[in-house]
Amino acid sequence: MSNPTDFPTPSSLHDLTFSALERELLASGVRPVHARALWRALYREMATHFKERADFPPPLRRWVEEATGEGGRFPLDAPEAVADLKSSDGQTRKFLLRLRDGQTVETVIMGYPGRSTACVSTQAGCAMGCTFCATGQAGFARHLRPGEIVAQVLHCQRALKAEGQAGLRNLVLMGMGEPLHNYDAVMTALEIATERGGLNIAPSHVSVSTVGVIPGILRMARENRPYPLALSLHAATDAERMALIPASRRWPLNELIAACRTYGAATGRRIFVGWTLIAGTNDGPAQAEQLAELLAGIDAHINLIPLNPTEGYEGETTSDEAAQRFKAILQAAGFPCTLRQRRGIDVAAGCGQLRGR
Ligand code: SF4
Repeated sequence: MSNPTDFPTPSSLHDLTFSALERELLASGVRPVHARALWRALYREMATHFKERADFPPPLRRWVEEATGEGGRFPLDAPEAVADLKSSDGQTRKFLLRLRDGQTVETVIMGYPGRSTACVSTQAGCAMGCTFCATGQAGFARHLRPGEIVAQVLHCQRALKAEGQAGLRNLVLMGMGEPLHNYDAVMTALEIATERGGLNIAPSHVSVSTVGVIPGILRMARENRPYPLALSLHAATDAERMALIPASRRWPLNELIAACRTYGAATGRRIFVGWTLIAGTNDGPAQAEQLAELLAGIDAHINLIPLNPTEGYEGETTSDEAAQRFKAILQAAGFPCTLRQRRGIDVAAGCGQLRGR
């Protein structure tokens, strides 16, 4: 029976969930029990080809060679890194990956003491048009397939392994694209990335970010998806929000906050609210108070992120003093609040900046 998270039009082995792989094998006369060996090769060994796999039973070997070979139904997603930059502090590594059709996407590894986080893209470009974001400035090209999202995770995992580091602990969908605008592919990719016999990233260590795509938030609530939700708010009035996130005109704040309440009630999960601090635009005390009022009664953790400046946006990053004042107001209103460090400035770590160059 098909799984509702299966991608309807798979064209890569990395597009298949474990249950979809079992069904493909069964339909080809290969015992589905062999799916586990192939899955391990794909996601534990991170194999990039399947020629002469003496450890596979012959029917599985024949199937995978044909499926991934020339003209096969499921070629592997193996994007090539056309840029690979490391920040001067060694903590951030950014890749520009070229997909089969020549589109490029950005993927970042952020290192923290004892753990690493991959930040992956879900679309080539983005249709949301956020004025301060290099991806938004460049526009939308296309959605990514699940395999193209999973392949970014694998690329990070291989890079960490090559450096002798521990594997990924966290996965954030905060690269290029609006994840909930590509809902089906994203949910399939996350099912693959969190499968316990493979990449095995804990669902609670995944973060799905959105600028407020209400139908996607409500669908996550309805389907009780186990991944934490990160809402990029940036403004607490519709007019200010539309100036920063043009696409938000489709999703007014009163409806968005109602959707957050529905999500919280249905899942019992805290929402992570992101707020990019832009000097003189949204970093004043009045705006902090408006934000606290807007979120009243919602179980929210607020992440404040000083702006990563881009060439196409004239706004500047907040001052440390304004950021601290903003944070203090939210904390006084009872919200847990974290002021994030800007990272990877020297590798253009803000989404879309490297691709733009
Ligand atoms: S900030 Fe995110 S949602 Fe907005 S344009 Fe950039 S990639 Fe898209």
